[in-house]
Amino acid sequence: MTPPAIRIDNLVKRYAAPKGGKGADAEGKLALNGVSFDVPEGSIFGLLGPNGAGKSTLINILAGLVNKTSGSAEIWGFDIDADRRNASRAIGIVPQEIVFDPFFTPYEVLENQGGFYGIAGKDRRSEELLEAVRLADKRNAYARTLSGGMKRRLLVAKAMVHSPPILVLDEPTAGVDVELRRQLWELVSDLNREGVTVVLTTHYLEEAEELCDRIAIINHGELIANKPTRELVEMAREKIVAVTLANDLTTAPSHQEFSKVEQTGPRGVEVTYDKDQMNAGQVLGILQEQGLTIEDVTTREADLEDVFVQLTSAG
Ligand code: ADP
Ligand code: MG
Repeated sequence: MTPPAIRIDNLVKRYAAPKGGKGADAEGKLALNGVSFDVPEGSIFGLLGPNGAGKSTLINILAGLVNKTSGSAEIWGFDIDADRRNASRAIGIVPQEIVFDPFFTPYEVLENQGGFYGIAGKDRRSEELLEAVRLADKRNAYARTLSGGMKRRLLVAKAMVHSPPILVLDEPTAGVDVELRRQLWELVSDLNREGVTVVLTTHYLEEAEELCDRIAIINHGELIANKPTRELVEMAREKIVAVTLANDLTTAPSHQEFSKVEQTGPRGVEVTYDKDQMNAGQVLGILQEQGLTIEDVTTREADLEDVFVQLTSAG
């Protein structure tokens, strides 16, 4: 068995209490409450959770920007306390906030970062990285003149300057348009195909579902799931049939086998059912028996969004 790319063991972070904090604030915010998981080498690993769940806190501990309260973490087998230097060398982090000196050009940003890591001029990969993130034509532009998307891509290149085996992206697509998101995912997939282990945080379930082969979910600083994406999706056994009726609905349909019935408009109804218990044909049959004339039908599988609701409401 190959060791994991990242090992997180019982990580706890309590932020310092604000001055004069009262009640729950007097103790300081408990952002991580004993989180443990491994990131398998070679995977695209999604760390999923709503805003305030503790995702950035965890990433920033790995980055050495936040001190943990207790627990331990290893990056590429290097303990972040005992072997901080090697741990840092094994990871490239794209932070949630975009920060650049506006007067450096993309080329200079990468050269400076290379210098920071002590990489000799001849061994630097600035040109190659600019090519990879499709910024070669912006080589000499001031960072301040780049679009948000270009800045994001430059940050990915910057994180890869020292050729780390692990790339971490904290909410890379927050506030990013559809086209850029697609480009970013292509870039991430390419790097992963070349062997880079990728960790990304997001609060978009769809995104995690599409990209990640394994997903951990945190909520209020606690790990509530950690599974291969496929298994997580399979946890949602529910299916939804949405029907448009020929006439306005007078009374909502109901049946003991339906887990939920929702009216979506004067002629729209959505029925949620357990796909192990019945199928869409049976649902439609029941609706017709109750006197409804169906004009149009669509069905959908429960997605990660549904799993997430299930998991967070259960805990
Ligand atoms: P996420 O990235 O999942 O949105 P964060 O890790 O940023 O979550 O935050 C987790 C919790 O810790 C939140 O309640 C947040 O308000 C709190 N928090 C984050 N940073 C600090 C800080 N520097 N001082 C005090 N509390 C913080
Ligand atoms: Mg965050």
